[in-house]
Amino acid sequence: MSKITLNKTKFFNNLDIIADKTKSKDKIALVLKDNAYGHGLELVAQMAQEYGITKAVVRTTSEAKIIENFFTYILVLADIPQMPDENIRYTINDIATIKKFPKGTKVELKVDTLMHRNGIAIDALEMALEAIKEQGLLLEAIFTHHRSADELTSEWFVQNKLFSQVKVKAKSLGYEELRYHSANSASLFRYGDFDEDMARIGIAAYGCLESSASTQEDLQPILSLSASKNSTRELTKGERVGYGGSYAMSVGAKVSNYDFGYADGFIRILSNNYTTPNGQKLLGKISMDNSSFLCEEEEIVIFNDAREIAKQAQTIPYEILTSLKAGIKREFL
Ligand SMILES: *Cc1c(COP(=O)(O)O)cnc(C)c1O
Repeated sequence: MSKITLNKTKFFNNLDIIADKTKSKDKIALVLKDNAYGHGLELVAQMAQEYGITKAVVRTTSEAKIIENFFTYILVLADIPQMPDENIRYTINDIATIKKFPKGTKVELKVDTLMHRNGIAIDALEMALEAIKEQGLLLEAIFTHHRSADELTSEWFVQNKLFSQVKVKAKSLGYEELRYHSANSASLFRYGDFDEDMARIGIAAYGCLESSASTQEDLQPILSLSASKNSTRELTKGERVGYGGSYAMSVGAKVSNYDFGYADGFIRILSNNYTTPNGQKLLGKISMDNSSFLCEEEEIVIFNDAREIAKQAQTIPYEILTSLKAGIKREFL
């Protein structure tokens, strides 16, 4: 059986560093979409509540419902509700969807300041505000998203400037009381003096922020994946391990098979080419639920830093983490 362990001390330490930047725990909206980046939605919600986080961001209504009792504020990024909910705010990603939201829904309007993925065009702000009013929706905030906050380019500044124009415009149209937010993890760490109403923080809280535009060395990954042993055998020089016999023993040694594989969400491309943090060498192909290592331990740590796996697999830690299947047993330390 493979198992995910979350380190609460490291999580709280990451949140301390983040709260130091936002200047208040209350300004952290913890992003829990996609099973809390693979960490486990309820488990992370529970730890976050214990720390004193009051706000969360998710993708769907069903995710929001699962964690409803842990937070006083939940923002749903991409869903349309059947009926309004006291705790839950919904994102308006497009003018055309405004008429699909039931009257009385709390909403936040996303504005496209450069990313060109979701959100209304800045030019359409007045029209969108009118349509929201006509539909009887309760607008609480306007927000935007950065496209390259993790790279040291001028785009971060360009988007901030465009967003401040949006604020001025909304105020001039009589919207005095709205909240505004734009920062994700990488963006927050670029501020010298953070002054927005809230920051939407995902990857930094999980300790895997990688940004060339700021320093954040003290953040630490909180998730480790481990696996327990199925069996051990003694192999002789030249014997081959696993599907296709792709690894041949160079000397006789004890080899163990662990209950872990690509069905857990680990990438098969690292077959024959992976060594665990404790030096146990993977032999042969990663199978669906079985992988063999040159060791005998009852339980081995597969990884405890998704950034390292991501580098080896030429992807980003977000993909490594969110790929971990919901069925894996999870607990916190
Ligand atoms: C996922 C997401 C975030 C969190 O981004 P991180 O880089 O993980 O901090 C923030 N805002 C929006 C709109 C998102 O979709």
